[in-house]
Amino acid sequence: MPKITGFEIHDVRFPTSLSGDGTDAMNTECDYSSAYVTLKTDTELVGHGMTFTIGRGNDIVCTAIREVANRLVGKETEELFANMGKTWDYMMSDPQLRWIGPEKGVIHIASGAVNNALWDMYARARQKPLWKLVVDFTPEEFVNSVAFRYISDAITKEEALEMLKQKAATKKEREELVREIGYPAYVTSAGWLGYSDEKVARLTKEAVAAGFNHFKMKVGANQANDLRRGKIIRSIIDDPQHLPPGLKPRDPNGPDLKGKNAGPTGAVLMIDANQVWDVPQAIEYVKGLEEIKPWFIEEPTAPDDILGHAAIRKALKPHGIGVATGEHAHNRMVFKQLLQAEAIDVCQIDSCRLAGVSEVLSVLLMAAKYVFIGVPVCPHAGGVGLCEYVIHLSLIDYIAVSGSMERNVLEFVDHLHEHFLNPCSINSKGRYNVPTNPTEGYSIEMHKSSIAEYEWPNGSYWVSAKAGKA
Ligand SMILES: [Mg+2]
Repeated sequence: MPKITGFEIHDVRFPTSLSGDGTDAMNTECDYSSAYVTLKTDTELVGHGMTFTIGRGNDIVCTAIREVANRLVGKETEELFANMGKTWDYMMSDPQLRWIGPEKGVIHIASGAVNNALWDMYARARQKPLWKLVVDFTPEEFVNSVAFRYISDAITKEEALEMLKQKAATKKEREELVREIGYPAYVTSAGWLGYSDEKVARLTKEAVAAGFNHFKMKVGANQANDLRRGKIIRSIIDDPQHLPPGLKPRDPNGPDLKGKNAGPTGAVLMIDANQVWDVPQAIEYVKGLEEIKPWFIEEPTAPDDILGHAAIRKALKPHGIGVATGEHAHNRMVFKQLLQAEAIDVCQIDSCRLAGVSEVLSVLLMAAKYVFIGVPVCPHAGGVGLCEYVIHLSLIDYIAVSGSMERNVLEFVDHLHEHFLNPCSINSKGRYNVPTNPTEGYSIEMHKSSIAEYEWPNGSYWVSAKAGKA
């Protein structure tokens, strides 16, 4: 039986601040970065994981990863895999490390990298992509893999088991369907704040031509500019002449689009403020954007402010605009309360801000249980590696947990995929393809050459950039 013998950590940073990619009202000069870890065993078996940051501080996460990963050294892999929920509890309960959390901040995202690496190893050990490993679990095996502590007031293990059993018989049909048509996606790449109007218009036209029909734009730095840019995007996505040949407009009042403020071609616009406002300011600002008909405002205020989100949602409801958040929600308890307080319309889990797959599964179950408030899970992606991760999570949600994908959309940003051995991909209808390689695990293995080039500060790119500056 393989045993974990050690690990390797890399601080990898990509110079995205040079192009304005990833710019929003809060984050103006991001270098998309990966705190990357490879768990090693005494056999060929390895597990890769990472968490995403936006530059400085990536080294701090790498230091925390070392502390968390140390807890797994010497463990038998099969014992860890046999009860991933228990393994997760063990990883999170270092008696000294928990003081610098618990379950938040650097230590939590570092735990996410390590937990994801262990899940990647588990999937590789079974020769299945991660999503397939999980959807093939029996309901009992699934429940044993979940982080359940502190959420039993929202969902118990018994309730989760019952929900999973109800979906089990039809998993195969859903798996076949999504393999054939792909999983719905939306684009953010067209609407970064750092882009000119011309670039936004060009990228929007390209996105429509690629088959997308949900689009997101960054807002919050200047309302007049946002309105102008929003109108440019609306003028393109609402105009049937830009649709790709053979693609017909969708019914804005159909069951998949109803309540999403879709335009005449069935196109949906979302806006994202990345936490810039206070609560009253958020309400006033977004009311002023009613004309561009957003489906939701994402991250209108501080990510920990659950009741603030609830107040914004209540105030914007008469204007037909919803609220989304989650990419900075640091643990499952925040999601529990967002659902309990009916503070959100869309749940945007992040694959490595939550501490890995086990904690994500707990949020998928809670969102499915709160189905009566109708909150689809639309994971956060973009950055580096996040798109590679999240397609697995949405497939688990659709096939095994919620049983639905019609109203979901998974974020897609076309950056930096070339650095991964098994990059995610989009089909001609603007939907994610299903990862099928039995050796790709959680799809997060990075090319060794990319690590050698972009490792900070001594990778070849950064050394020559420094020489150029000097
Ligand atoms: Mg966002």
